Amino acid sequence: MEKTKGEILEEKLFNECKNGFEGLDENKKEVIFKFSDDYINFLNKAKTERLFTKETIKLLDYNGFKDIFNVKEIKPGDKIYYVNRSKAVYAAVIGEDKLSNGLNLIGAHIDSPRLDLKPNPLYEDGGFALFKTHYYGGIKKYQWTTIPLAIHGVVVKSSGEVVDINIGEEDTDPVFTITDLLPHLAKDQMKKTLSDGIAGEDLNLLVGSIPYEDEKVSEKVKLNILSILNKKYGITERDFNSAELELVPAFKARSLGFDESMVAAYGQDDKSCAYTSLRALLDLDKLQRTAVLLLTDKEEIGSMGNTGMYSANFEHFVSLLLEKTLEKEFNCLNKCLCNSEMLSADVTSASDPTYDFVDEKNNAAYLGRGLCLIKYTGGRGKSGASDASAEFVAKVRDIFESNDLLYQISDMGKIDVGGGGTIAYILADRGIDVLDAGIPVLSMHAPYEVASKFDIYNAYECYKAFFED
Ligand code: MN
Ligand code: MN
Repeated sequence: MEKTKGEILEEKLFNECKNGFEGLDENKKEVIFKFSDDYINFLNKAKTERLFTKETIKLLDYNGFKDIFNVKEIKPGDKIYYVNRSKAVYAAVIGEDKLSNGLNLIGAHIDSPRLDLKPNPLYEDGGFALFKTHYYGGIKKYQWTTIPLAIHGVVVKSSGEVVDINIGEEDTDPVFTITDLLPHLAKDQMKKTLSDGIAGEDLNLLVGSIPYEDEKVSEKVKLNILSILNKKYGITERDFNSAELELVPAFKARSLGFDESMVAAYGQDDKSCAYTSLRALLDLDKLQRTAVLLLTDKEEIGSMGNTGMYSANFEHFVSLLLEKTLEKEFNCLNKCLCNSEMLSADVTSASDPTYDFVDEKNNAAYLGRGLCLIKYTGGRGKSGASDASAEFVAKVRDIFESNDLLYQISDMGKIDVGGGGTIAYILADRGIDVLDAGIPVLSMHAPYEVASKFDIYNAYECYKAFFED
């Protein structure tokens, strides 16, 4: 059948959006699925920012990257990294151009919503030992009860000795959980709103129930737990004062669906963008402009602090690069930043058919349609938005289109419903052209988030193309 005039015109003029799996050849599908297997394996080892940093350093070392503090001079082709307090990593592949002509940056965050232990966590009540928690980032509290939880993090003794805690991931490990009321007796609780049904102070982690055998002791279960911890880790109750212990879902990242087209996992915000941009960086070869990857901490609570994106450690890293590439002209750092371009690689909310009333369907992000560009973040009148210029969006579009890569563009949620933010504005404030570009996910910030395998691989391809431009 010959195409009608209207059909031909439609093809030429409409902005066609399609599911990336449609018309995909089998070989490409195999590549996409293999990449997702690697991603799933990585996620299972890297649920917290400290673990993500540790696994990232392993990959960087393996791929010939050098710690900047062990390098005297840097030249084109060199691969360098900088670790910020075990919780953030910046890495670069040096290009032929002077750094002060600008960098191609991609920034993602490696912290995710979770529950942290309070500084005095352990107590005994009603014959149980429990931990008090303080949630981190935007969570729906009821989602964190009655699921298996693992504990990760460090206890640092006053001597400076760091004790790694990592329990709940192996099949032979015990897990932990936060209890909830049975429906039979929850008549009053069920009348509360979703946000009040479980209070912050109700998120208490169950950690033990055997009493220590000694009539003279008042808190026998608590003592028994401390005795176990002391034997295993050599710590006392006071050592919790200088600890960072995080509770994350103990379940594993898995393929989702009969067609295995999706990944279900904890922490895909933003570890999906962090992993794909890291893989893109590892696969870079000869570059004109220097590519820099920023894997940062504390985004979920505002990017503050010395491991967040606001930290001067970022400028320190760029200054060290300038110093060691022997670029020393006046105001070199600002020149470098103002000439730089960046993708803020952070996930966005994908339209969920069960809850699509929060979306404006012409400007929603959809699972499986590729990396999602977000020209401006914020909500309710672009409040707090980082707004990329039309010129820069056009440039990024051109990179993807000339590499035949699918992408979509969206505006998160209906205008009056809400919105979100990323690290984009922090770097835009420094004079960098920044555009948000992330993987769409379902159930964002829930203990189990969903992403499309097509989008995960597509993000890797898009990030690589941007680094190489
Ligand atoms: Mn995020
Ligand atoms: Mn988030």
